[in-house]
Amino acid sequence: MSSNPAATHPPIPIAKPLIGEEERAAVMDVLESGQLAQGPRVEAFEAAFAAYIGAPHAVAVNSGTAALIVALQAHGVGRGDEVITTPFSFIATATSIIACGATPVFVDVDPFDLNLDPSLIEDAITDATKAVLPVHLYGNPARLSDIREVCEDFELALIEDAAQAHGAVHAGQRIGGIGTACFSLYPTKNMTTGEGGIITTDDAGVAERCRIIRNHGQGERYLHTMFGLNWRMQDLNAAIGLVQLGHLEEWTLRRIANAARLSALLTHVETPRVREGDRHVFHQYTIRTNGGRDVLQAGLKDAGVGSAVHYPIPLHRQPIMQEMGFGEGTFPVAEAAAESVLSLPVHPSLSDDDVAYIAEAVNRLTS
Ligand SMILES: *Cc1c(COP(=O)(O)O)cnc(C)c1O
Repeated sequence: MSSNPAATHPPIPIAKPLIGEEERAAVMDVLESGQLAQGPRVEAFEAAFAAYIGAPHAVAVNSGTAALIVALQAHGVGRGDEVITTPFSFIATATSIIACGATPVFVDVDPFDLNLDPSLIEDAITDATKAVLPVHLYGNPARLSDIREVCEDFELALIEDAAQAHGAVHAGQRIGGIGTACFSLYPTKNMTTGEGGIITTDDAGVAERCRIIRNHGQGERYLHTMFGLNWRMQDLNAAIGLVQLGHLEEWTLRRIANAARLSALLTHVETPRVREGDRHVFHQYTIRTNGGRDVLQAGLKDAGVGSAVHYPIPLHRQPIMQEMGFGEGTFPVAEAAAESVLSLPVHPSLSDDDVAYIAEAVNRLTS
């Protein structure tokens, strides 16, 4: 890309996992210990993550997808059940529901923040509804207080897809501190273990069931009381997570500062909106364009600025969902978002100069 004459700045990637000397040393320690699979470092990572979130329990697993499947099962979601969720997310939000034998029931998103619209939940509830699965998209909290109220009224489980929301806050409460939330620790997320995921919960029974389900459904050795598979995290991964967690707040503050600077500089696009009392942790800094999104993305590529579309096809329009029969126009807000959103680099390694360069490039290409 640096060979392109339009690029006057070194290329800026959309995401950049930060792995340093400490992570390398921690991994070497695990290799030397001989304890590679789930062991003391997983336990230590669970305790540290629970303390960071302010949750009584945390259960580590081997991906964010695994966290969703295990948490849904621990809440009793199974064959024949329906789970209400958003059509504007990564595919794992819906496929984790399907993996439990249940059916995802989509409701449209709120144009304000592109998160599940709480006012649409009630109409989607049937006798088969078992749970609601909101996503805190891009790290911006969904309207959890309103969603929680509906769940309490209708006695539905509430399981949060917090894969992008480590350290986010809704109405003064850290995401994952109340109820059950599922975090991804994939390399591009706000912190990583390599592949990995973790469930936080305030319910001791849910935590206990999660631990059983992640380990072949066995509470005691070779006694299988629940359906489970191998969803365990390795000590190798937990060792990386322990180091990363120590940096998370500092990295999050840098993301928030980069986002604030971008929003102050951008002139011709819609910048992200955050509700009063909430903390958006900017896993993604996602603008909305007024047409011309693909041209903008191509122009940014020429300028050496990485960008990405999260997400180009809403879940109800994915080929795998075709048999559910959702036509075009079923969820208009999600469909319009899929055509207008563009995520710009916001990661903690950006310099002030990088941020200014990104904003200048976007302003030039949109004016
Ligand atoms: C990343 C992500 C997942 C899946 O996490 P993995 O660790 O990749 O399995 C699920 N939901 C959302 C919203 C995500 O961003």
